[in-house]
Amino acid sequence: MVNPEAGFGVARNSLFSKYGLSVLNSYRNHAKKYGEALSRLTGMKGLEQHTMMPFRGLFDSMGKGVFRQEKHWCPECYLDAMRQSTLVYDPLVFSLMEVKSCPVHQLALVSQCPDCGATQQALPSSRKIGWCTRCGGFLGYMGVK
Ligand SMILES: [Zn+2]
Ligand SMILES: [Zn+2]
Repeated sequence: MVNPEAGFGVARNSLFSKYGLSVLNSYRNHAKKYGEALSRLTGMKGLEQHTMMPFRGLFDSMGKGVFRQEKHWCPECYLDAMRQSTLVYDPLVFSLMEVKSCPVHQLALVSQCPDCGATQQALPSSRKIGWCTRCGGFLGYMGVK
């Protein structure tokens, strides 16, 4: 974990369970510090362009009502990534409360596994993105296999 590099202790991991991915991808101080730490650790520049940092000033300064706490996703995006053998990832826009559907597929975003109904951790600790953190099922199916 990048907590020490970001200047946070291990106890700060509770931020992720409380605030989800907004800790990493918002425009507030934690996202800035984690972004800087990830840049130092990976040598990659411009990581803030993968956060909401460029849009700070357009939203509530405290982030209220901007980010979802639960992960939401578009099953068709996951399925497309699998079909094309590309990396499954969660677009930043899906973490925004006001975004209710996928701009590519025009499908409503979902927040529960079609197999077991579990909501998903924003940062899964044991499975890859696109797979249920409880049952292991692929989240790209919309309840029909
Ligand atoms: Zn989609
Ligand atoms: Zn499941």
